[in-house]
Amino acid sequence: MTSRVYIGFGANLGDRLHNIVTALNRLKQCAGLKLLSISSIYETEPVGCPNQADYLNGAACFKTELPSVQILTCCQQVEALGGRIREGHWQARTIDLDILIYDQEIIRSENLTIPHPLLAKRRFVLTPLAEMAPNLMVPGINRSIQELLTFVQDDSRVKLYLTLAKLLDKLSEV
Ligand code: ATP
Ligand code: MG
Ligand code: MG
Repeated sequence: MTSRVYIGFGANLGDRLHNIVTALNRLKQCAGLKLLSISSIYETEPVGCPNQADYLNGAACFKTELPSVQILTCCQQVEALGGRIREGHWQARTIDLDILIYDQEIIRSENLTIPHPLLAKRRFVLTPLAEMAPNLMVPGINRSIQELLTFVQDDSRVKLYLTLAKLLDKLSEV
C-alpha cells in the first residue's frame, strides 16, 4: 500500500542550509522514499531549550511503501551521516529528522510516536506543514494543520528564510 509521510527537518549547528540540503538529497536517495513536495525554509527561535543558535526548519512529504519503523531507520542513518551527535532531546544539532505524520495512522511504540507528539504545539512545525497541506487532518487530534496553526499558543519567532523556488534550485544543484 502506498502511503504519504511528512518528515520535519531542523538544523542549528554548522552550515545549517547545507546540512538540510544534504539530508534532503540523501532522503531522496533512500530506496522506498519518493519526494512529493517540500516547504520553504524558515528561521526559527529555539523552543524547549534556550541559549542555542536559531534553527532552520521545514518539512517534506514523501510517497512510500515502507513501514514507519523503516522510515525512522532511514532518518536516523541520514542524521548520522550528517554528523548528528545524540545529546538528548532539544539539544543543538547539525540535523534533526522527525516523522510528523504517516497517513492517518496513530503509532505509539517505545521508539516511535506518530503523529509527532509535539507537532500541534510547535509553530516551527505547523508553519511549513501548513504551506504544503493546510487541510490535512491530524490523526488523533481531529483538527486540520491550518486550524492548529491558527490557535497554537507557541508565539516563538518563525520567519521565512529561503523560498521554495530557491530551495528547489539548491536541491537540483547536487
Ligand atoms: P523532539 O522529538 O521533541 O523533536 P528530538 O527530535 O530532539 O526531540 P531526538 O533526539 O531526535 O529527539 O530523538 C529521540 C528519539 O525519539 C529517537 O531515538 C526516536 O526513537 C524517538 N522518536 C519517537 N517518535 C519519533 C518520531 N515521530 N520521529 C522521530 N523520532 C521519534
Ligand atoms: Mg525534533
Ligand atoms: Mg528528532
